Amino acid sequence: MRIENDPKLDFKDVLIRPKRSTLASRSNVMIERAIPFRHARRTWTGFPLIAANMDVTGTIPMARALRKHGAMVALHKHYPTEVLVDFFRTAESANTFYTIGTNEADQEKFKAVKAEVTIPMICLDVANGYTESFVDMVKRVRDENPDAIIMAGNVVTGDMTEALVLGGADIVKVGIGPGSVCTTRKMTGVGYPQLSAIIECADAAHGLKGQVCGDGGLTVPGDVAKAYGAGADFVMMGGMLSGHDECEGEIIYEERNGKSVPVQMVFYGMSSDTAMKKYAGGVAKYRASEGKTVEVPYRGPVEGTMLEIMGGVRSMMTYIGAVSLKEVPKRTTFIMVGAQLNTVFGQS
Ligand code: 5GP
Repeated sequence: MRIENDPKLDFKDVLIRPKRSTLASRSNVMIERAIPFRHARRTWTGFPLIAANMDVTGTIPMARALRKHGAMVALHKHYPTEVLVDFFRTAESANTFYTIGTNEADQEKFKAVKAEVTIPMICLDVANGYTESFVDMVKRVRDENPDAIIMAGNVVTGDMTEALVLGGADIVKVGIGPGSVCTTRKMTGVGYPQLSAIIECADAAHGLKGQVCGDGGLTVPGDVAKAYGAGADFVMMGGMLSGHDECEGEIIYEERNGKSVPVQMVFYGMSSDTAMKKYAGGVAKYRASEGKTVEVPYRGPVEGTMLEIMGGVRSMMTYIGAVSLKEVPKRTTFIMVGAQLNTVFGQS
């Protein structure tokens, strides 16, 4: 057994220090990035935010809505083949990842879709990206799809980030346990504070011309700003995009003044009882559920939330004097606050 003593940080443990700058207005900053990929050998341009491949948020309506802002969606893997083929035939799919899990049925469906349409962006998603079989899968998918942008994860340490980049991933997805409806930390004791995970994995990936996507744990636009400051090239979110019209979740209505109005929406983790009952007929005996089901406020179209997030990021950039999103990590100084400060300096 070993204990690592370095403090590890979460979003709530830091703030970004303002810096003097010549920037006069938030309209002078650029939140689009042009990101070149190591393996796919092409450059993607847009606002680097991805809706999570959860069946409530990784939807086709979400892809259409986010594309207007240059953002992306990782589609959930439960759409039928015909729906996927039809969607990937349209220009609206330009910013959409096709998600493949590890099971045989996922692989077969991918083959069937690929026989009909080109899939330019692939998300290889497993809860635990630390297995040799996952690295082998990344290598195989890279060999079979040399031109695709491949995002793979999840991991939280530099060593495994390097293994995935060298194996063929353009983007490594970072995050074990931070998700809003994830119970992995409670159920298994495994995890890593998300800000430190992003800092360490970004450092490892960038050394190899790879990119990272900070996945999970973002609760407010300020967390998105901190993730970019920590070196995340992309961010992925579920909870922040839940509760909107573009989500394909159950809506809970309430009677108000004789009218039925939407008030809440159901949102759940992809390894919750709810998801496993829906797609796998229940939780297999050898495993426990590592996700929960919650009701979130109904918030109408996702447009308002996207404008808030983008507004928060622009404003952070003016506070630190970063003209482009790429400059943000260089201009970011985090200051530790609250619990972490007490841990480091031994205050009570
Ligand atoms: P959020 O933005 O809601 O904080 O986090 C979204 C991320 O949580 C997803 O992209 C995915 O990585 C993770 N996630 C989704 N469902 C589950 C689940 O049931 N269990 C665990 N451990 N993680 C989940």
